[in-house]
Amino acid sequence: MTTATRPSPPKGGFNARRLIGVDDLSDAEIHFLLELAEHYAGYLRRAAPAPRRLAGKTQINLFYEDSTRTNMSFELAGKKLGADVLVVPVAASSVNKGEGYIDTSQTLAAMSADVMVLRANEKGLHETLDEVLNCIVINAGDGVREHPTQALLDAAAIASEFKKLEGLTIAICGDIRHSRVAGSDARLFTRLGAHVRFVGPAELMPPADEFSAVERCDRLSDGLDGADIVMGLRMQFERMGDGGAEAAKGYYDKFGLTHETIKLAKPAAKIMHPGPMNRGVEIDGALADDPERSIILRQVFYGVAMRMACLDALLTKGE
Ligand code: ASP
Repeated sequence: MTTATRPSPPKGGFNARRLIGVDDLSDAEIHFLLELAEHYAGYLRRAAPAPRRLAGKTQINLFYEDSTRTNMSFELAGKKLGADVLVVPVAASSVNKGEGYIDTSQTLAAMSADVMVLRANEKGLHETLDEVLNCIVINAGDGVREHPTQALLDAAAIASEFKKLEGLTIAICGDIRHSRVAGSDARLFTRLGAHVRFVGPAELMPPADEFSAVERCDRLSDGLDGADIVMGLRMQFERMGDGGAEAAKGYYDKFGLTHETIKLAKPAAKIMHPGPMNRGVEIDGALADDPERSIILRQVFYGVAMRMACLDALLTKGE
């Protein structure tokens, strides 16, 4: 699937002025981003320079939590489109002198920022900064709440394999309770017409009143039955102050994703994982590395293409 010609923005324009959660986007905007990401994927595959549509724009990556994929792919995405990209070295910044989130962000935004790509765990911080800063805010991971660009890149990777998400059964397995990826994926995939399942022990499930459109399975055999996509999640030990670590014990024996357990899904089912993976904790390394099964590195590839699409659409309205 390659979009050789640039897709037209949705009728009425690309109007989203921030990307904090999946629901900041209309259905038409989501479809546009998927097409635009595929368009940029074409440049990346051909190693061809992309149009410098963001020349003269300033992008600031401010990450208060660790990141490899998201931070680096946003940096690369901005640079490929010609933006001036500043990746803030938080560990060596005035944050260590006690400067707060808002002062730091306002200081950086005053350097003529057009977009701030922010990862932070503070509830409501992204929304507050969207109000006080004179630039676009993109959420690059927000505690356990949202990681919208991960969901968009996951959808792009799935669409590259299956053409569309509509009608697919997608099993998201593991530590769902502490995963912002699971939440954003579930919101986006159900909007795109997929049937989503959360699979794992009860202790690692989100509260019962959340995600009413998602089926819940506490046995791997039920969760993987008929699945087209099986997504593993990392045990997010850094967020487990509530007994989750206890639940994680013995997880691999019951829910580990291996060449054997994947047989419970459809014969052509594909494996995904947002990374970082913990091999032997939630997934067997041999399965993760199996090119017949795994599209994990394709997710990383689409991370750059989708973040190019998001930066372009938000900063230029896609015109
Ligand atoms: N990289 C993803 C995130 O930032 C998943 C993870 O950390 O396990 O949420």
